[in-house]
Amino acid sequence: MATNAARRPIAAVATAAACAAALSLGLAGQAAASAPVRSAAVASASAGAATSAGTVSYATWLADVSTATAPAQAYLQQRVAAASFSGKPAIVLDIDNTSLASYFNPSSYPVPATPPVLALAQYATAHGVKVFFVTGRPDLIDLVSKYNLTSVGYTVDGLYSRNPLQLLESLQSFKTAARKQIEADGYDVVANVGNSASDLAGGYADATFKLPDYDGLLD
Ligand SMILES: [Mg+2]
Repeated sequence: MATNAARRPIAAVATAAACAAALSLGLAGQAAASAPVRSAAVASASAGAATSAGTVSYATWLADVSTATAPAQAYLQQRVAAASFSGKPAIVLDIDNTSLASYFNPSSYPVPATPPVLALAQYATAHGVKVFFVTGRPDLIDLVSKYNLTSVGYTVDGLYSRNPLQLLESLQSFKTAARKQIEADGYDVVANVGNSASDLAGGYADATFKLPDYDGLLD
């Protein structure tokens, strides 16, 4: 792919975030966890992050995420205190730009956690609430995703990612089906937290909490 984007130095972008970016651009099948990602789409994603950096600052994002996460924290504490669940209690988290600060760390691995979301997840774990991650990332990079999440402080009780066939269906359809499966496995999804509408629509959660995506700037 001899494009301008392809000539950018991309050796450092073989990260989970980059792979996820490749996925969102429909090139997931070409992404490999252990090899440099050699696609113009990934390079473009990095360039896109750079050129859009002025649109939202990390400080602004973090403040907005804190505002959006606070009600989730309060709600979870309330549910834990009431100890009234329709199954084994669980929460569902999106990964990119929800659990991990992917947009602001396009070349980092592991990608740092989003502090307020990590606090929510750690509260859940400390109180017997399972933490499931439902992501649009391809299952090809499950080891990368799990290592990233655990190395920055998350307990991963389950990871739902997309196999090649599932890459063909809509993100919302995949994510809804994942929560349906989690509940079929005997869990009560107390809270579902994500930064995209497709993370939250479709039911199978007692409550949903929307983090900012700035009109799709953050996937
Ligand atoms: Mg996301």
